[in-house]
Amino acid sequence: MCDKSHGDIAQIVADSGAVGADLLIAEQVTELVTANHILYAQGVVDAFGHVSVRHATRGDCFLMARNMAPGLVTEQDIIAFDLDCRPMNADGRSVYLERFIHGEIYKARPEVMAVVHSHSPSVVPFGVIKQSPFRAVCHMAAFVGVQPPIFDIRDVAGDGTDLLITDQALGAALAGTLGTNAVVLMRGHGSTAVGDSLRHAVFRAVYTEINARTQAQASQLGEIIFLSEAETRAAALSTEGQSDRAWNLWKRTAQSVHLSLLQQALLTEQ
Ligand SMILES: [Zn+2]
Repeated sequence: MCDKSHGDIAQIVADSGAVGADLLIAEQVTELVTANHILYAQGVVDAFGHVSVRHATRGDCFLMARNMAPGLVTEQDIIAFDLDCRPMNADGRSVYLERFIHGEIYKARPEVMAVVHSHSPSVVPFGVIKQSPFRAVCHMAAFVGVQPPIFDIRDVAGDGTDLLITDQALGAALAGTLGTNAVVLMRGHGSTAVGDSLRHAVFRAVYTEINARTQAQASQLGEIIFLSEAETRAAALSTEGQSDRAWNLWKRTAQSVHLSLLQQALLTEQ
C-alpha cells in the first residue's frame, strides 16, 4: 500500500521507479482534467459527482480532484490517494466525501482503471422504480446489459442514512453489488460506472445517462423490445472499442464549455 501521507504527485511518481513515469503521470493528470470537463459538458455531473483514474505506475494509488465542481477542475486540483482513500498530497485541501466508492472498487476489481460516480438525472428514476428495471435499449449502451445491479444502502446500513458512501465498509458493499458489471445503480442517489481506461469509463458514464433517457422516452410510447443478452454481448464488442472517437468529439465540446466558464468568471471579476 502507499504509505506516504503527504508529498506531491511528482514524488509519488519518483517512488514508483518506473521509466518514463513522470511523462505518463503528466498525461494522466491532463486526461483526468479533460474527463472532469467532458462529464460536466455532457450533463453526467453537475456541481457534484467525481471521476478517478488508477495511477499509471502504482496500482495501489489513484488520482482524483479535490472536493470541487468537476467543470472547474484544473491540473493543480488533482490529488493522489491510496486505496484506503487517504490523500497523499492534499496539503489541507478538502477531498470528496464519497472517495471510498473509488478506493474500494479499485481494490475489488484489479482490472478497473477508472471510475465515474454521478447523480446523472435520467438514471436516478431507474434506481427507485421496481416495476421498470434499467437495461440496455440501444447498441451504444450494450455494456449496461440486461440486469445491472441496484445498490440499496438500506440493505447494508439500515434506515436513516444520508445515502452517501462515506466509509470503507459502504464502499466495499457497493463494490460487492457492482460485482463484475460495468455499472451499478444506487437507489435514491445515482450510479457508478467503471472502465479499463479513463476514456472507457467516461464513455460508459455518458451512455448510461443516454440509455436511461432513451428508455424513459421509449416506455412512454409502448412496450419496449430490449437488447437480448446475446445482443448486448455482441454490440458491446463492437461499440466499446470506439471510446476514442467519442472522447475526441466530447473533448472539443468540453473545451468550449470550459472556456465559457472562464470567461464568465473573468466578467464577474471585472
Ligand atoms: Zn454521490
